[in-house]
Amino acid sequence: MNSKNSDSQNQQGILYVVATPIGNLDDISDRMRHTLANVSKIAAEDTRRTKHLLSHIGVNTPCFSLHEHNERQKVDYIVQLLAAGESVALVSDAGTPLISDPGYPVVNTLRQAGYTVTPIPGPCAIIAALSVAGLPTDRFLFEGFLPAKQGHRKNYLAELVNQTATLVFYESSHRIRACLEDMQSVFGGERLIVVARELTKTFETVLNGTLDEIINILDDDLNQSKGEFVVMVRGANSKQIGLSNESKKLALKLAEHLPGKQAAKITAEMFGEKKNAIYQFLLES
Ligand code: SAM
Repeated sequence: MNSKNSDSQNQQGILYVVATPIGNLDDISDRMRHTLANVSKIAAEDTRRTKHLLSHIGVNTPCFSLHEHNERQKVDYIVQLLAAGESVALVSDAGTPLISDPGYPVVNTLRQAGYTVTPIPGPCAIIAALSVAGLPTDRFLFEGFLPAKQGHRKNYLAELVNQTATLVFYESSHRIRACLEDMQSVFGGERLIVVARELTKTFETVLNGTLDEIINILDDDLNQSKGEFVVMVRGANSKQIGLSNESKKLALKLAEHLPGKQAAKITAEMFGEKKNAIYQFLLES
């Protein structure tokens, strides 16, 4: 690693993209500590938060701010530092930079310009959440934060209704309830979800169940709406794609009184949908 002082006039510095804890400071790695201690400067989303982290690990490397409103202007400054042989670390407030966090213009520009950009991997809320969700992880689609306005959010979700990969969203405490309700109305209340809250922190909770069930839990315990969330939605079953919520509801109701095949046949006739797809849905419900 290049040292704090630009000891070589010819050697370019390196940009280290450093993941930091998403709550629990014991997740700090030796490599992270070593990197932050040995670069010339740290580009931080919020310098106050990063200084708090640095003081915890006994590092006093100077920081400058790099956030979503100034990151394009800071690119030239980082290029100057690297060109002068000084290495820089890029950190966000928590987790992995660039994952719903600043840093894309910097990394993109430096890579285009031929500078070395290297990761110091570590915590990332999506990966931590998926690793404990018990949902398929062979394919997942990370959608970041949903639109703030309900109309946009519902339209956005409607585009995803037939997606078969596991869907992953970030959500904050003030919108979690509205977000789950919109998912319920678009995906149907029986779609399986997992809500990972406050991962690695004192009140870590991972809830799994149908959208109807999870919304009931949030209603019963207001604490479940507090904190930071990763919401994961089981992808649509490829065999059930195209089934309307109405036909699913009717099939479930009929299946309470009739054999599954008969319930599927009647529903298929009423809605003009495939009997086998409805039967498959009943088997998996
Ligand atoms: N770059 C970060 C990462 O690697 O996870 C994510 C930054 S994004 C601005 C912040 C969002 O990540 C939060 O609103 C929440 O949805 C999610 N998040 C961050 N920390 C979390 C935690 N400890 N538990 C659950 N979700 C978390």
